[in-house]
Amino acid sequence: MATPIEMLEKLVSFDTTSSKSNLALIEYVQDVLKDHGVASTLVPNEEGTKANLWATIGPEQEGGVCLSGHTDVVPVDGQPWDTDPFTLTKKGSRYYGRGTCDMKAFPATALALLPEMVAKPLARPIHFAFSYDEEVGCLGAPRMIAEIGQSLPRPSVVIIGEPTDMKVVSAHKGMWFFRTVVTGKEAHSSQTHRGVSAVMIAARLIAKLDEMAKARAAAADPDCKFEPPYSSIHVGMVQGGTAPNIISRHCEFVCDIRNLPDDFPEDIQKEYEAWIAAEILPEMHAIDPTTSVTVTTENAVVGLREDRESEAEQLVRQLMGDNDTNFVPYGTEAGQFQQAGMAAVVCGPGSIDQAHQPNEFVEESQVASCETMLRKLIDRCRA
Ligand SMILES: [Zn+2]
Repeated sequence: MATPIEMLEKLVSFDTTSSKSNLALIEYVQDVLKDHGVASTLVPNEEGTKANLWATIGPEQEGGVCLSGHTDVVPVDGQPWDTDPFTLTKKGSRYYGRGTCDMKAFPATALALLPEMVAKPLARPIHFAFSYDEEVGCLGAPRMIAEIGQSLPRPSVVIIGEPTDMKVVSAHKGMWFFRTVVTGKEAHSSQTHRGVSAVMIAARLIAKLDEMAKARAAAADPDCKFEPPYSSIHVGMVQGGTAPNIISRHCEFVCDIRNLPDDFPEDIQKEYEAWIAAEILPEMHAIDPTTSVTVTTENAVVGLREDRESEAEQLVRQLMGDNDTNFVPYGTEAGQFQQAGMAAVVCGPGSIDQAHQPNEFVEESQVASCETMLRKLIDRCRA
């Protein structure tokens, strides 16, 4: 059977960029499981081009510990890689390749320990939950989570193996994306009183969002353990206008909120929409009633709330001997499992500093530490 590094080499060799299918990797994992007498269930996307994989090792019953990770990776396009991103390459104590830290090392280590999991009967099940499309907004896992308690057994603990340097992460922020489309009225740029500039309206809307962001920063709780300690609001993409001398008809932009787990990003969007209705639309409609501003929520990923007493926290803290408090600003699938009633923590090999970067790598010692943790977990599930 493969070592964790050999398994990582295999998983890295599948180009599972989110825009592509992950099925070749999933079929490989199914074969590995089958070789060890473990059945697996696929929960595919609507088109059948990608799939989540679920497998239960040990007794088919509720409870147990779920090892969760996404199989997709971010693109390598335009990134200056020194090695082939889909060939695991060792340099010193580091293993380079796309997905080495985010996050194929965790499922690779879990798969490499499969022979130990099945060697003797487990008293509590260990589940594998491998998802697709995490990197494009945690879109895949919800379909699998919806089956938990239906066709899939409900674990009592979920460990999401995103790169945390093997620290136990108790909380992460949520994400909320919405798109604003401004439809103005064209006119010659010398006739500003006759047109409605979609670009200039959009500029005011973005300034409003900036003002709302600054208000949240100013009101931040200094004891908040998140960095930054407030819900951030950011506009990262704008498109609009066709020529300098045409009052623009169209402008659109996307706003990305990273909310504290206890904040409601929908309230931020509602506040913004109410302000548009009160302050902006009357002015636009006075010139042309067909002009408009539409705001559409595009994607939302729930945050992970800290729960020091949860079974997941207690268990993984014991396994790792880690009693520090670790919060991260990036989103993961942990919040989605928690929202569905399962105790979840994030703990996995590698550093987020290398995630999504060219020359992404994982340290050998991180994989070793993950292997040690999972071995202790197997022992726990045996008793
Ligand atoms: Zn990830």
